[in-house]
Amino acid sequence: MNELTKGVMRFEKKIYPERKEFFDKLIARQYPRALFITCSDSRVVPNMITDSEPGDLFTIRNAGNIVPPYGEAMGGVSATIEYAVMVLGVKAIIICGHTHCGAMDAAMHPEQTVHMPIVRSWLNHCESARRVVVSNEKLTPDERAHAMVEENVLAQLDHLRTHPSVAAALAAGSIDIYGWVFDIAEGHLFSFDADQGEFVPMGEDHIPSATPKRRRRK
Ligand SMILES: [Zn+2]
Repeated sequence: MNELTKGVMRFEKKIYPERKEFFDKLIARQYPRALFITCSDSRVVPNMITDSEPGDLFTIRNAGNIVPPYGEAMGGVSATIEYAVMVLGVKAIIICGHTHCGAMDAAMHPEQTVHMPIVRSWLNHCESARRVVVSNEKLTPDERAHAMVEENVLAQLDHLRTHPSVAAALAAGSIDIYGWVFDIAEGHLFSFDADQGEFVPMGEDHIPSATPKRRRRK
């Protein structure tokens, strides 16, 4: 804890004063580039892995980067999504999972959470992903762990689309959604490409999106 309070002192006395002009510009209002939904894991730092700044990412974090389906748990995640889309007008929503995720490990092994009823209940939102993974008997244990991370991102993207604000924005073509996986061991990020149906490395000019084909509207 001491290290953290020392960090606060450094921020107040050095970092903030040096960047006062930058922070002043953020006072009036925020224009974040994206809503970034990721895991609570301390090794995943959204602004670091996107090399971005304060003001760039409106963020939701929880164990397992989970988005409960609309109507099932009308809590902080749902409210924050609605606010991001309808008030802040974000043009992108990113759900970012990561390798070596403790939540995904626990979701794959329900016996680990017998004594943690709240965690167990929360991880039920990953059940469709777990079923997809365990139904593939060809996978090695390592491949299973990796598949669970990817399938969970896809399951949460499905849940995200049940939220009315997101569904309406997608139908209007005013928002894109992305499914990312951060590989902690390699320092690489992968994005789900809806056209190819797989996670692919990101290129500088092209970030594949998980946005479904836009429907025809009258
Ligand atoms: Zn995690």
